Amino acid sequence: MTQPSIAIIGAGISGLVIAQALKNLAHITIYEKARGVSGRMSTRSATPYQFDHGAQYFTAKTQAFQAFLAPYLAEGSIALWQPQIIVLEKDKPSYNYENSQPKYVATPKMNSLGKILAEGIPICLQTQIATLQRSGEKWQLITTAGVTLPRFDWVISTAPAPQTLNIFPPAFSEYHTLQQVKMLACYCLMVGLPTQPALNWQAAVVLNSPIGWIAYNTHKPGRNQAYHSMVLQSTNNWAEEHLEEDLANIQHLLLEESIKLTGIEPKNLSYITTHRWRYADTAISAQKNYLLDESLQLAACGDWCIKGRVEAAFTSGNSLASRMVQLL
Ligand SMILES: Cc1cc2nc3c(=O)[nH]c(=O)nc-3n(C[C@H](O)[C@H](O)[C@H](O)COP(=O)(O)OP(=O)(O)OC[C@H]3O[C@@H](n4cnc5c(N)ncnc54)[C@H](O)[C@@H]3O)c2cc1C
Repeated sequence: MTQPSIAIIGAGISGLVIAQALKNLAHITIYEKARGVSGRMSTRSATPYQFDHGAQYFTAKTQAFQAFLAPYLAEGSIALWQPQIIVLEKDKPSYNYENSQPKYVATPKMNSLGKILAEGIPICLQTQIATLQRSGEKWQLITTAGVTLPRFDWVISTAPAPQTLNIFPPAFSEYHTLQQVKMLACYCLMVGLPTQPALNWQAAVVLNSPIGWIAYNTHKPGRNQAYHSMVLQSTNNWAEEHLEEDLANIQHLLLEESIKLTGIEPKNLSYITTHRWRYADTAISAQKNYLLDESLQLAACGDWCIKGRVEAAFTSGNSLASRMVQLL
């Protein structure tokens, strides 16, 4: 019997988890708009600096995710990160951030797990899907460059909900659920330093500031200790309020704020850049693990189905894969 063909849109954690689970049951092809895999579990390289500018760390609260991570923990591609985290507020004494939940990172970079999961999966990078068209019993994908791709039996989108909404037809039975999802932006300021920053903490939860989180990236396990990089992320609310502003202006505002919080002057920085994430976190989720239209053979999943977290992306992709195993 010939195997069904499945197009997966997006090579983030959810898409890669599905591809690995179904690769022996179907002909899988992943289409990814970026130059590399791993989606928002990402790393920006600016030689010699590296910045985990998306997910900072992740937790593993469910047994399924713990079991999934176990072999990667054993081989060292996932490691525990144990930073001293403080709560930081301008003009107030800082104090320790109490959160005993184990924090994991991929090593040597946050996108390393995605790279491992991508092994052996056919992936077309730099291919952005614009829309789908019905072609007989199958789906035809069309790229933003106007290229018509081969026909597929199934299409699974793991792109953030607002992006999936642009691709999927209104006939998708969960179209209304897609419309309900609300995702929030985030700005990430990345700075490289010639020497280790003089801080007695490695991460900070920041209160009452445009900046919500600071991490000394180099402290994470497996990072090159010779190059000092820090990541400062805005709060989601501040990013939403400044979403369409010029990135140079955003960088200026975040740098000014970072001086007040860390005392590190821009003249002491050897590298500075800023990234805008339009869909970083999830304010209103789909409230179900995945969206599936069995009759149209369309599905959507991703962190936004549950919560804006790596573990949620895994749970969403893994649950959809389990259902697909029954259907294929
Ligand atoms: C700034 C920031 C900080 C975060 N911090 C944390 C944290 O500390 N802890 C935590 O657990 N989580 C955190 N997260 C969330 C975490 O990164 C996500 O939950 C997780 O990576 C989502 O995985 P995913 O597979 O659902 O989606 P994604 O990783 O977004 O994967 C979707 C993929 O689809 C691709 N795509 C989109 N549209 C198209 C298209 N039209 N055609 C082709 N490809 C397309 C995208 O390029 C992307 O690679 C953070 C995220 C951000 C942005």
